[in-house]
Amino acid sequence: MYIIPNPKKYMLFDEWFDFSDKLIITLPVGTVPAEYIPVYTELISNYTAGMTKAEFVLSDKLCGAAVISKEPFCDTLCEKTDDEYELHVKPDGAKLVFSGETGFIHALTSFIQLIRIDEGYCYARATDVWDSPKINFRAAHLCVFRETTLGFLKKSIAMCGMAKYSHIVLEFWGMYRYKCCPGLSWRDAYTDAQIKPLVLFANALGIEVIPMLNHMGHASQGRVAIGKHSALDTDLSLAPLFEDDGWSWCTSNPKTQNLLAQCRRELCELCGEGKYFHIGFDEAYTFATCRRCMKYDRLTLMKEQIINTNNDIRSLGRRTIMWADMMHDKSTYDMKVYTCLTGSGEYVIKKDLPRDIIMAEWQYDCTEIFKTALSLNEDGFDTVTCPWEKYGNIDAATETVAQNGLFGVIETTWHTLGRNIDRLSYAGEKMWSIEGTGGHAVHHLISAFHMRRCVPSNGNYAEAGINEHELPSLY
Ligand SMILES: [Zn+2]
Repeated sequence: MYIIPNPKKYMLFDEWFDFSDKLIITLPVGTVPAEYIPVYTELISNYTAGMTKAEFVLSDKLCGAAVISKEPFCDTLCEKTDDEYELHVKPDGAKLVFSGETGFIHALTSFIQLIRIDEGYCYARATDVWDSPKINFRAAHLCVFRETTLGFLKKSIAMCGMAKYSHIVLEFWGMYRYKCCPGLSWRDAYTDAQIKPLVLFANALGIEVIPMLNHMGHASQGRVAIGKHSALDTDLSLAPLFEDDGWSWCTSNPKTQNLLAQCRRELCELCGEGKYFHIGFDEAYTFATCRRCMKYDRLTLMKEQIINTNNDIRSLGRRTIMWADMMHDKSTYDMKVYTCLTGSGEYVIKKDLPRDIIMAEWQYDCTEIFKTALSLNEDGFDTVTCPWEKYGNIDAATETVAQNGLFGVIETTWHTLGRNIDRLSYAGEKMWSIEGTGGHAVHHLISAFHMRRCVPSNGNYAEAGINEHELPSLY
């Protein structure tokens, strides 16, 4: 089938929609912003090996429906649906049925995924698809490391788009150059001019980009074991912004708060319109230890950091998302199952936190319904489950949300996406369909099929596939 997620209902026919140099997509006026159209024409060109030029025609005779055909479509066509999309491919063209922008995008990307190349022409198998997601908030957490090329980031976004995610959480590991403080990032960090086209690409694929900046631990914008610090290794005079060991921000320094507020605004502007901001807040192993912070109660400092930051994020018209690993009493869980809980007693501040905060509950070894997530939900927080690499863990996270009506899922990828691109399509599928397409190999093959078309390598070995190298590398 090669549509991801595998639709929960479809029919295949032994007929084919053949086309070659031209496709005309007729759609209602105002369905998507005009700036999205070049993304779709490029995708169709890529999926047809450059054979087919797509032309998008706006029509006021269509509502809630679009038509893909070889000749101009001039009839009137109106359909009503809820959130689901329908795609009906017949020998004379395809009909797309939807209720708004996102439904149109899902139907269009499903059609694009059906395109096959033959000698001198292309075709799509006659197919009827009816589909709708079982989870509304379907996010992937994408990390931009020094080793993450823009091409790989675009491929990752493309896979999220093809798998019909609703959101991407974008975390820069010292790799976004803040205008308010360039010294926070590595010298070769990406500029907004480099990142904004990727945000548009994501938006055109139906995805809202959620900005993320760690507001307590991980202030080094690095991993604890590697010892790099994007700010202090770039400009050591920035040391007063951080605790002595550099791992956490010095939250009692007003200059830190002023800087974080400026960074939040820059990231919101970079990532475009949206409803959320992710403040990190995991693994704050050490905080409130410097000469300035020692004067205060450490738990009060942490609580104020969350509440004050949340107030500012509210003023920006957004909701705070935070990692929840420090918000549990570890003694109440089996630590062999719930292996990702951290902290030393910080959970006691949870009762005082505003309930408009969304708790992101990450557990990477749990293969049962997430008891931790249910607990946060009972405490009054909208809660998202966050799995990682293990398929059984992804199954448990998505089932926890689907069965209990929780807020959504964030599939995390961290430093392993370079070997685990299949997890994006697998997790995306679990958020949509009842029946899965297959295991690791099948999802790797589907991913390669789409990456090859979405971001062509043009014979450049390093830019092809999922990884720069065929043999294992550190990344
Ligand atoms: Zn301090």
